Amino acid sequence: MSFIYFYKIPSILHQLICGSIVNQGHKPQYYIEDHHEGIVSKEEFEKVQEIIQAKSFESKKGRTKKYPFTSRLVCSSCGKNFHRFKDHRGKVSWRCHSNVRSELLCKADPISEVQIKKLLIEGFEKRYSMNKRSNDGLLIKQLMKELANAEAVREHEQNLLRVELEKCLIAENKAILQNRDTEELKLKRKEIEDKIAAKTRLWEDFDKDYEFREESLRRLQDLKGSDKSISKILDLSFMRAWVIHITVESPYLFTIKWIDGNETVVGKFKGGLFYGAK
Ligand SMILES: [Zn+2]
Repeated sequence: MSFIYFYKIPSILHQLICGSIVNQGHKPQYYIEDHHEGIVSKEEFEKVQEIIQAKSFESKKGRTKKYPFTSRLVCSSCGKNFHRFKDHRGKVSWRCHSNVRSELLCKADPISEVQIKKLLIEGFEKRYSMNKRSNDGLLIKQLMKELANAEAVREHEQNLLRVELEKCLIAENKAILQNRDTEELKLKRKEIEDKIAAKTRLWEDFDKDYEFREESLRRLQDLKGSDKSISKILDLSFMRAWVIHITVESPYLFTIKWIDGNETVVGKFKGGLFYGAK
């Protein structure tokens, strides 16, 4: 058997990125090719990878096109996602995955899609102080600018953290070579690594939403700054372009996380009752 297992590559990259090679430079590490007999053949391995990739592409594509909030409505009670259901009368509601499995796992109430739209509009109105505006022209410009710049802002954020991490690795490497204490430098590096880890999921989710941003940008362009026109296009898939995810505290209380990292709390506590305490 003569090939390099692909799954080795991420682990080597991880070592490089996280600096474990730098930190333990006094202990040489080698990657040994063809060191042992493979458990699966190269052909089998590649076939599995192809199937995995095709499946994830298919499901991502299908989900994004069908239901804008799949995988983005998170239950604050159990941490699972809400899923979309349609009853025989055509009424659409979203239910926590755990609750669908059993009431014993999570008591989160279902939310009607109408309610999601209502709370999202409230979030949009709060975020852009829409009720204080007499004309939508400036708002339309601002929204278009936000969408057009969103990718650049996200790239910039990631690049800054990468540069910070690189600086830390260089400083740490230098300290090792000069036989100085590296404890403080290690802590600083760990801090940046944690920041990157926390941001990675948000970046990934943001990247998957490209189509929503394109579509909303197109719809804004079609409005051409006409007076009080935003409300005409303020539907779920339009607003979705600005949302990274929503934490569902109850059907009446959401925390919306926007693409710029800010959060808006919408709705209200219903008498301070928690799920199930009816
Ligand atoms: Zn739940």
